[in-house]
Amino acid sequence: MQASAEKTAPQTTGRPFILDPVFRRVTDLPGVGPRNAKLFEKICSGDKVLDVLWHKPIEIVDRRFTSDVAQAPAGRIATLTVTIDEHKAPPRRNLPYRVKCHDATGHMDLVFFHAHKDWLAKQLPIGSTVIVSGKIDYYQGNPQMAHPDAIGSEEDRSAIETVEPVYPLTQGLTNKVVRKAVQGALDLVPTLPEWQNDAFKKQNSWPDWDAAVRTLHNPPGANGLELTHPARMRLAYDELLAGQLALAMVRHHQKRKQGRAYQTGGALRETLLGALPFALTRAQQRAIGEIDKDMQEPIRMLRLLQGDVGAGKTVVAALAMLNAIASGCQAAIMAPTEILARQHAESLKPWLEACGIRFVILTGRDKGKARETLLSQIRNGAAQIVIGTHALFQEGVEFADLGVAVIDEQHRFGVHQRLMLAAKGSKEKGGVDVLVMTATPIPRTLTLTAYGDMDVSKLDEKPPGRKPVDTRLIAKDHLGQMIDGIARQIQTGARAYWVCPLVEESEVLDLAAAEERYEVLEARFGERVGLVHGKMKPADKDAVMEKFAAGDIDILVATTVIEVGVNVPEATIMVIEHAERFGLSQLHQLRGRVGRGADKSYCFLMYGNLTKTAKERLSIMRDTEDGFKIAEKDLELRGAGEILGTRQSGMPVFRLAELPAHADLLAAARDDARLIMDKDPDLKGPRGDSLRILLYLFERDQAIQYLRSG
Ligand code: ADP
Ligand code: MG
Repeated sequence: MQASAEKTAPQTTGRPFILDPVFRRVTDLPGVGPRNAKLFEKICSGDKVLDVLWHKPIEIVDRRFTSDVAQAPAGRIATLTVTIDEHKAPPRRNLPYRVKCHDATGHMDLVFFHAHKDWLAKQLPIGSTVIVSGKIDYYQGNPQMAHPDAIGSEEDRSAIETVEPVYPLTQGLTNKVVRKAVQGALDLVPTLPEWQNDAFKKQNSWPDWDAAVRTLHNPPGANGLELTHPARMRLAYDELLAGQLALAMVRHHQKRKQGRAYQTGGALRETLLGALPFALTRAQQRAIGEIDKDMQEPIRMLRLLQGDVGAGKTVVAALAMLNAIASGCQAAIMAPTEILARQHAESLKPWLEACGIRFVILTGRDKGKARETLLSQIRNGAAQIVIGTHALFQEGVEFADLGVAVIDEQHRFGVHQRLMLAAKGSKEKGGVDVLVMTATPIPRTLTLTAYGDMDVSKLDEKPPGRKPVDTRLIAKDHLGQMIDGIARQIQTGARAYWVCPLVEESEVLDLAAAEERYEVLEARFGERVGLVHGKMKPADKDAVMEKFAAGDIDILVATTVIEVGVNVPEATIMVIEHAERFGLSQLHQLRGRVGRGADKSYCFLMYGNLTKTAKERLSIMRDTEDGFKIAEKDLELRGAGEILGTRQSGMPVFRLAELPAHADLLAAARDDARLIMDKDPDLKGPRGDSLRILLYLFERDQAIQYLRSG
């Protein structure tokens, strides 16, 4: 008992016991031991039984197809019944062992390389009738089957003539082993109370949850793998509902708590607008109008400000923060990295100073006495605006009275972190209004999955005077010419980013690629080249970035760390190596680093070998600079996970739902979630219990914790 308790995944608070079996470790499954568990983790992206259940087959082999020898079609998997005539050992070592056999219609050979003679003699005794299943091919005009996948006697017929799922694999794992583990996982599947609306389920003819999971892994035929199969639809819907419900709960409980009614506009805003060297765009005016409306009302704001890189989100954030300050509260703005936090501070500084607002910067780098001083300024209200990184979430950071939190997430924070900052507000006074800013041009269908029905303001217009970036595709063989070209540009004062991509999802290898390129460029340009990467200490990274910003270096070689927000208007060249390995939205963000100043800018997308789709994708980059268009196209070509950049997004990645194919289900799940929140916001009713199970099943139980602490 002791041992199995140790193997069990740590119990999350409150998870219903009925789910325990599927939260056990993969090592509890048949055929999975400590050695291949890592491989399972890799292909199933998780180490729980549940992850194995979500590992979907990609193909099926239909062994129900039977044929006689004369009709056996080349290249197809078939099951045949044959009588064994003769064993022919090969005359030479590198030739195969042949077993001759026949049925009423003709003769064929079973072929074995590196055969074990004794084993074959036992499996295929001369004169016996056997069932063999495998791929048919033709050799010198005669049918043969090399290494049958299954051999059996008449009694084994029903076990052989099946539909066999084929799973995505990795080196060291065979389909057989994965199937065995999956079947073991299916044995652990509990019968769960139904969380779906009865009428809706009937109307769609969907099976129960456990039946759907079984069907997923025992597809009845080729259509069993289709996204529109009722079993798959049901599971996809469950997953989407869990996501939508979690978001709806967060939103509902955020909203239901009374927020505060703030003064908007006023003298401070006049001062700030007067201090700006530009007029607001219409899109910026619209956005701040929408924010004002939220803030005037006594409910909590939860708004997403979506705007392409360079669209001018910062000034909108500043105006929102001024609303809180005009009403005597504090405001905070949080960035995903230290560099970005400092850049925000730099952009905001002249504006805040013009308004006489006291602000502090708090990052993980502040330690000891200095940190204490900052913390006390935040606690006693001396700091009206706090600019920082995720350090703002940490314990010990207490605000006198936080009114508005702006989260510049640049797609790096998750819902959870947003909630933690929101929880920094004073409950008696009505909590914190939240404005989330994102530069990821998320297509509409995906906004819903990532943010639920959060209110959205869009900056769909760029400030005037931006020049288009001249984007070119360059084969990587032309590296030499590329470098020559850059050398010429640099002589006229240009500055260039040089981005080296992710290699095999490994930071070590990424770094190696960037370092290698750095050395090549350094050999040519000497100390005018700098290198930044994710493994550097923040202070060192900042130092290099600052040198680039100041013009002390001309070429900045970087891994994707520069992806987010840096602002060096003098940089006019962006080189991206192996552009085909990036998501389009990521390329778009990178390209957004240039084209910010007065001079003409270039983006060179260097590519290795291109598939047709890859070529199409890169051409989109060349043809448009509209982030939304790019994202829609990317969604069409690749699917959701890729766009959102699964590794760093904090956004949900679906195991069963697939967008845009299941977009209708998503809309239905959203409506369902809303209805549930209207009727039973605390999930206390009869459907509530099963819905809680659903949330735990898809690991969206954060929403439940929130409900509890809320
Ligand atoms: P992002 O949306 O990427 O955060 P920023 O807020 O950093 O964009 O703005 C990019 C640049 O555009 C900044 O230099 C900012 O001062 C400038 N800017 C913002 N709004 C306007 C405007 N209405 N007219 C001209 N320039 C603007
Ligand atoms: Mg910004």
